[in-house]
Amino acid sequence: MYKNFKLVDKVVFGRGSFYQLKTIIDEKRLSNDDWAVFLIDKVFYDKPLSKKVPLTNYDLLIYANTDFEPTTFYVDELTKKIKDYNPKLPIAVVGIGGGSTMDLAKAVSLMLTNEGSAADYQGWDLIKNPSVFHIAVPTLSGTGAEVSRTTVLTGPLKKLGINSDYTVFNQIVLDPDLIADVPVNQRFYTAMDCYIHNVEALTGSYINSFARAFGEKSYELCKEVFLGNLSREDADEKLMMASLMGGLSIAYSQVGVCHALSYGLSYILKTRHGLSNCIVFNQLEEYYPEYVIEFKEIVARNGFEIPLNVTKNCNEEEFEKMVDISLVLVPLWENALGKNWKEKISREKIKELLKKM
Ligand code: NAD
Ligand code: ZN
Repeated sequence: MYKNFKLVDKVVFGRGSFYQLKTIIDEKRLSNDDWAVFLIDKVFYDKPLSKKVPLTNYDLLIYANTDFEPTTFYVDELTKKIKDYNPKLPIAVVGIGGGSTMDLAKAVSLMLTNEGSAADYQGWDLIKNPSVFHIAVPTLSGTGAEVSRTTVLTGPLKKLGINSDYTVFNQIVLDPDLIADVPVNQRFYTAMDCYIHNVEALTGSYINSFARAFGEKSYELCKEVFLGNLSREDADEKLMMASLMGGLSIAYSQVGVCHALSYGLSYILKTRHGLSNCIVFNQLEEYYPEYVIEFKEIVARNGFEIPLNVTKNCNEEEFEKMVDISLVLVPLWENALGKNWKEKISREKIKELLKKM
């Protein structure tokens, strides 16, 4: 059986397209008491963007705390807050921000129509009921969260996504103006997440022509952005498309060794996804030799430094937990190392790699 995967229903792309959000939501407002939830990264508190959110009537605006990456606990808290505000379901949940805010919007839209805690649904296809209509407006590009069928959550026991067709956004609004003011470091780490998605997809055993077509284009765009001579405006537009295409590539393939280790690392060290991936990828010559050389060139050419020795103070128990988290991600290992991946990687080997980070 081939994967029958769900795509985002509708896409708007273009500078200034943020203003179209109002029309898109207004089309959903059928009665006077219909209302929408806007979840916007708290970095925009008091910034011009938050004043431009098209709030009307009973709408609710929540500033999402992105000091930490999304947890099931925080998703449950936000869901309760929305239900307490108005027991009638909102007509839309809109996430305005980077991967964290988009993932929170996805998770909240699912939990408004599904009983229990978000932690109950971490895994594959456990969601029972369709979500509330949900929209993404990225303000940071690279994760591909705008097109993926997952919302990555740290739960009490594991860091694992809620993967389902209902997770996929119904609408995305891609406005390159919104990523213009991202701090340079954050822009770089999140963009490298995209670069690494492509490397892991293109070198993996799950690759097919569909995933290759998107992965190759996204990889090429990443190189143009970080090794070329583009204006910042041009670079932002290309980065936004690279993120989308990288996400589409892994939708029909998978990530690999870097993401498997990075999930373990960030669970313990609480480092953000993009930075964790950079720390891990920097040490993976054994698995992605020519790409790690290229990655180091990109890092140097753009004047960044990737942290070293970040696990030096971790104890054995923490290394064991990192290994546990990594090994749960079976499809990632299978994609990277093939069907007999268990013969190629051991707990000891994973620990040895983590100790190099
Ligand atoms: P993020 O959303 O965590 O944001 C990082 C920082 O950038 C935050 O401090 C945020 O406030 C700030 N920021 C965002 N937009 C900004 C802007 N325009 N101007 C200034 N500051 C801005 O970062 P991210 O790298 O986009 O997302 C990482 C998250 O995405 C992780 O939780 C990761 O697990 C998840 N992720 C999800 C998927 C998926 O398919 N669902 C894929 C990869 C990663
Ligand atoms: Zn990633």
